[in-house]
Amino acid sequence: MRYLITGGAGFIGSHLAERLLDRGDHVVLLDNLSTGSVENIRHLKSNERMQHHFDDIENRQLVAELVDDADIVVHLAAAVGVKLIVESPVRTIETNVNGTQMILEAACKKRKLVLTASTSEVYGKNTNVPFHEDADLVLGSTTKGRWSYAASKALDEFLALSYWKEKRLPVIVVRLFNTVGPRQTGRYGMVLPNFVKSALDLAPIQVYGNGKQSRCFCDVRDTVESLIRLMDTEKSIGEVVNVGNTEEVSIEELAKLVKQRTASSSAIEFVPYDKAYEPGFEDMMRRVPNVDKLHSLTGFRPQTSLNEIIDRVTTFFRERNSRPATARMASTTAV
Ligand code: UDP
Repeated sequence: MRYLITGGAGFIGSHLAERLLDRGDHVVLLDNLSTGSVENIRHLKSNERMQHHFDDIENRQLVAELVDDADIVVHLAAAVGVKLIVESPVRTIETNVNGTQMILEAACKKRKLVLTASTSEVYGKNTNVPFHEDADLVLGSTTKGRWSYAASKALDEFLALSYWKEKRLPVIVVRLFNTVGPRQTGRYGMVLPNFVKSALDLAPIQVYGNGKQSRCFCDVRDTVESLIRLMDTEKSIGEVVNVGNTEEVSIEELAKLVKQRTASSSAIEFVPYDKAYEPGFEDMMRRVPNVDKLHSLTGFRPQTSLNEIIDRVTTFFRERNSRPATARMASTTAV
């Protein structure tokens, strides 16, 4: 099979590409390197079944050509990370909405299967955990920048599902719950790489708010396994599917766990949300997926333990820190 992965030089995209190449598929990556990096795919570049294009998803002609050549399109290109979203809401909305529209339009002409990535953020302030795919989306006010991400992704979902209902374009929508693992950068605010990096640098581990908010962290290998299995079954078409781990941890507990597993002497510091993000920032207090649908479609549930995940991320940062400074700079530069 030939897969086109938008956002293919990103954290999840690069892991997906690696797995698909390993099983003998052909992979074409499209990435504008805004948050992805060349370093993420450097080890794949010599593979003759891999091609890459460092270009924008809004390059209509190129997208049309790449979609034509592909059997399946995996649309991961998006503005992600709460920090980035709060700081650049225009970019978030435009990238997420226009990009998805371009992909669906191009795919529709040739009826190519599209798997599009959404986010657990769409459940918003719903407190009824675990979240089932049919649950209500409870978003905050439009004056609070954070919710623009959820709204833009919810619109993407509506658009994808409408292409399926109205034009019979086969689509799969996945809602990803806090995917983590090697190669994820802390630059866009994601908590685990930030905690591990701080712990290894013996810098304060900064917990935002009171630390009672909780998340479930899914190893990127489990995320990739889920996506591949979903694309391998026709039963997924037209479905919205949660992809995540169900092991819940509060952010304060996470900080303690990271400190313990890295044997770090870092202090744990509490930072008010107003300072960490912007005045009036609203967090999601709990976020737990119901993954019964994923399991019934694929026979798979993400199960890598949090301890193992933390250790894998720690190894990644330790190895990166031990590389010469020039190589490190290349890997942290989003070109
Ligand atoms: N967070 C934190 N310290 C950080 C980064 C994030 O305490 O350095 C908190 C953040 O406020 C949120 C949780 O960790 O409650 C998860 O944040 P992340 O941005 O990783 O993902 P989210 O689930 O918010 O999309």
